[in-house]
Amino acid sequence: NRGIKALDPQQAFKELSPVIQGRLNHLLKVFLNENKNINLSAHRTEESCWMGNILDSIACLPVMQQLSIINFQFSILDLGTGGGFPLLPLAILFAEHHFTGLDSVRKKMDAVSRIVSSLNLSNVTLVTGRAEETGRDPTHRETYDIVTARAVAETALLLEYCAPFVKKGGHILLWKSMEIDEEISSASGAEAKLFLKRLDPIIYDLGDTWGKRQILVYEKTKATPKEYPRSVGTAKKHLL
Ligand code: SAH
Repeated sequence: NRGIKALDPQQAFKELSPVIQGRLNHLLKVFLNENKNINLSAHRTEESCWMGNILDSIACLPVMQQLSIINFQFSILDLGTGGGFPLLPLAILFAEHHFTGLDSVRKKMDAVSRIVSSLNLSNVTLVTGRAEETGRDPTHRETYDIVTARAVAETALLLEYCAPFVKKGGHILLWKSMEIDEEISSASGAEAKLFLKRLDPIIYDLGDTWGKRQILVYEKTKATPKEYPRSVGTAKKHLL
């Protein structure tokens, strides 16, 4: 497998400023508290939530740096954000950029909204809606520099959900496990129809029993044709 420079998320964390480290620790506490009442994540202990949600979310740091995110004010959408991953750790890391979290489940978005208030995050907007509908809304279509998604759907379907939101020249980042060559190649039809170019993935290792994972990176080279995304259900039944 090719890949952008491998990242050790534990090391990346150590290199963050003490203020940001403190805010990520605060997120861990507030999130676990919400997760007691609402099913936001299977990671219920501090250790597991820290590795599986927080460090996993910041694994995209090198690709963010490569996209020169440090130099510009970017607009980023996290599609299917659920309990707020990777949305919340990234909003903490990149306070100068604006983040939008999208999910169809209102109860989850209400919980994320309480977490956002508790952390005083002024750079996060939350939208309750389905990707297939919100992606047709002119307020959101072709308006984001980067769209992220973790654990939402298989690649072919996810590309159809994500592409309409991205500006021409913008990028899609998909958090995935390692051995998914078949899933990637069966998304080649979607890549072509949505004018997406697959770049080198970012490969990282969370260590211990967590092991290696990757973030797939796609660049959008042309505007998304009007027929996409297709209606709720159709996209899922008939993959591109
Ligand atoms: N990204 C989070 C949550 C993953 S669970 C994490 O990694 O922890 C997948 C989430 O995607 C669920 O909350 C589900 O409601 C949302 N989702 C799935 N399909 C969606 C769609 N078509 N539009 C909006 N949200 C969707």
